Amino acid sequence: MDSARVPPIIDTHAHLDDAAFAHDLDAVMEASRAAGVCQVINIGYSPATWLSSRALQDQYPHVGVALGLHPQNAGESGPELARDLLRALRDSGAVAVGETGFDFARSQPEFKEQEHAFRIQLEIASSEGLPTIIHQRDAADALTAELDRWPNLAPIVLHSFDGTDLLADWAIERGCYVGIGGLATRPRSEKLRGLLKRMPVDRLLLETDAPYLPPPGVGKRNSPVNLRVIAGILAPLWHLTAEELCRATTANAVALFGSISTGQVTEATKNDQRHESSITDRHVKPGKAPRTPGTATV
Ligand SMILES: [Zn+2]
Repeated sequence: MDSARVPPIIDTHAHLDDAAFAHDLDAVMEASRAAGVCQVINIGYSPATWLSSRALQDQYPHVGVALGLHPQNAGESGPELARDLLRALRDSGAVAVGETGFDFARSQPEFKEQEHAFRIQLEIASSEGLPTIIHQRDAADALTAELDRWPNLAPIVLHSFDGTDLLADWAIERGCYVGIGGLATRPRSEKLRGLLKRMPVDRLLLETDAPYLPPPGVGKRNSPVNLRVIAGILAPLWHLTAEELCRATTANAVALFGSISTGQVTEATKNDQRHESSITDRHVKPGKAPRTPGTATV
């Protein structure tokens, strides 16, 4: 497709600091931009990747960060998690807390350990007024039970949404944003596509989870380059074209996370009355204007 006609796309969940990109990150970034990707939110999921995510943000002006502790890394939380994460979030101007949540696919870390780390992060999201990006695997009931204890959080993102009918009902009721990406494009994901169909278009966010979860036919490594392909496969679930899905998800991401102040994104969203005030309020790129001065400490 003519790249000039691709609407701007935001990858709301990527791990471009992963070793899979170590040898050709510049080329991936360039190809992504040519494919219409105007902004990437890189997720730091452990103290080490808080640092590498921030390095990426410093290197590429269209990258923002979200920082948290993945439930599989909950064992890495020392007594200073709250202090260290809060400092990293503030110093980087992160757009969200996460990814955090529950992952019961493996027996470790134990539930109590995951719960402890999750609650620390929910407390921070609550006090900072930041969205929370949730990772959930085989843990839908525990997740909703925990989040029901936090009725006043800023919006919740269920990243790479997957789960039960009950979780889908709960997400709609709670007004959660729902990350859609490569997982849902796989031939075996028929049941997941059935759940996604029910999600309101104004709550959808495009994401890759790169380098993970590639759509069929692109090789083993996922990257933001594939977002338009993913949009093309999933858009019919909502009776949209790929372009319409890209426009809608970009507007949703800007409303939720703010945006780099580029003409491209403004063009994508200026006709959307629902989002106009939030764009005006939050047009400064997150991460470039830390809310508290300070030096990197994590
Ligand atoms: Zn992730």
